[in-house]
Amino acid sequence: MSRETKPTRRRFVRKLLLGATLTPLALTRFEVSNAADQPLLSPDDPAAAKVRYTEDATKEKSAKGHSCATCGLYEGPYNSTQGPCQIFPDKAVKAAGWCTAWAPQL
Ligand code: SF4
Repeated sequence: MSRETKPTRRRFVRKLLLGATLTPLALTRFEVSNAADQPLLSPDDPAAAKVRYTEDATKEKSAKGHSCATCGLYEGPYNSTQGPCQIFPDKAVKAAGWCTAWAPQL
């Protein structure tokens, strides 16, 4: 009896481990696709204007070489061109952008 149940048990354990490994990956991909669906923040948005948000940090002297891509509040994936920002819920900002709320990454 144990000879017949071992392969079944092994298959079950393999499937369990595979599921445990792939589930976090599947959830991560879902979050990234949600971020890509967010509308882009306009610099003319009143909330954006309050923090002098610009889509091109190179045109803002106060940025001092910083950009959204290097900001601790930026939540876009590595090497992304745009992504979510913690101070602008439901909007995406340009990775090349900047605002006065820029904070260093910890
Ligand atoms: S808080 Fe950071 S990521 Fe958000 S707009 Fe300002 S500089 Fe960009």
